[in-house]
Amino acid sequence: MNLAEKDRSYVWHPFTQMRDWNAAEPLIIERAEGNELIDVDGRRYLDGVSSLWVNVHGHHRKEIDDAVRAQLDRVAHSTLLGLGNVPSIELAERLIGIAPPGLTRVFYSDSGSTAVEVALKIAFQYQKQRRRPEKSKFLALTDAYHGDTVGAVSVGGIDLFHEIFHALLFHVLRVPPTIAALEATLEQHAHELAALIVEPLVQGAAGMLMQPPGFLRAARALCSRHDVLLICDEVATGFGRTGTMFACEQEDVAPDLMCLAKGISAGYLPLAVTLATDEIYSAFLGEYERKLTFFHGHTYTGNPLACAAGIASLELFASDRVLEKLQAKIARLHARLDERIAPIRHVVEIRRRGFMVGIELGPFAYEQAIGARICMGLRRRGVILRPLGNVLVMMPPLSITDEEIDRLVDATRASIVEICGA
Ligand SMILES: *Cc1c(COP(=O)(O)O)cnc(C)c1O
Repeated sequence: MNLAEKDRSYVWHPFTQMRDWNAAEPLIIERAEGNELIDVDGRRYLDGVSSLWVNVHGHHRKEIDDAVRAQLDRVAHSTLLGLGNVPSIELAERLIGIAPPGLTRVFYSDSGSTAVEVALKIAFQYQKQRRRPEKSKFLALTDAYHGDTVGAVSVGGIDLFHEIFHALLFHVLRVPPTIAALEATLEQHAHELAALIVEPLVQGAAGMLMQPPGFLRAARALCSRHDVLLICDEVATGFGRTGTMFACEQEDVAPDLMCLAKGISAGYLPLAVTLATDEIYSAFLGEYERKLTFFHGHTYTGNPLACAAGIASLELFASDRVLEKLQAKIARLHARLDERIAPIRHVVEIRRRGFMVGIELGPFAYEQAIGARICMGLRRRGVILRPLGNVLVMMPPLSITDEEIDRLVDATRASIVEICGA
């Protein structure tokens, strides 16, 4: 069997209808350089979605490779259950240094979903331990996405992904992202709410939905007024994606709990954190027999290789002045989208914040799989994108060059025109 046949025989791919997958020729990546992925036949593809929203400084970056290798020469893994390890301490200190004010404790896990589970369980237990056990429910936004584990799915609101699991989920109150709706819901339900969870500024998996300006700031103020914790899920928006290190900064918001994953290790290794305030952390301190401990932990929590990649990534943010240089790239990408993509007849809307872009196509039925077909056209043009239904998602690495931005937009234009007409 060749590799493609073995893939079809042995691998079950995520979010994939395997009948369609098995009928097509799989693209198999062997290596990567800079912002390009290279397949087993040596063909190159621009990584237009940062390998599912994770890559930051490009692939095979010497500084990160070296940091992981150096750590490999020391120890690949050692547990945080009962022991510390060097890179997890150093990364925690650095994260606290750049996080919104008041977030002073780092709880490690290994994916965005687990970072969310941890935030939910901490919020729930916190309310019990400060003797407000009636505050046991969660409020989430319509069309939210917080991951695929059962707790994360409960607070998520994307029916296509979640409908079938409804009986497994805990009850969550839901509100559209408007200040008035949030205010009314908190007025009525704050007494039973542990926390509000939001994706700040951009709801990514919903198709890059942009929140109204001021919503996040208002959410912070309302949560404080009503004694409800604010959880910001920055799994997608964190690490420069929206133009600032964290999306929260753009509305001067400091949440009580913040979830980070995806870009945290620059797209190298599975790693996530949940940041918490001192006030929350303190509620878990007490005599052993009072059982105030947070009884939660994943086996690979605080993995030293992943943390070493995370530290190297933050060093690159500083030494390469990544966020500074990003501003001109964002302007270029947005200008090119306006010039080249917006005029196409079937482009309904281009939603964007920094390097998070959703190009909505319409009107098309779900069965037409228009996004998927355009992405196949892009593949023939040497670009990888992955759609969300009728929305083409662009989420390039922050290291993308001006020439590559043009290539990305031009190939996207050509593929949309090919499939949908001009
Ligand atoms: C991707 C994502 C998650 C889930 O992260 P995984 O690492 O895939 O578990 C959670 N929240 C948001 C906002 C995401 O975009």
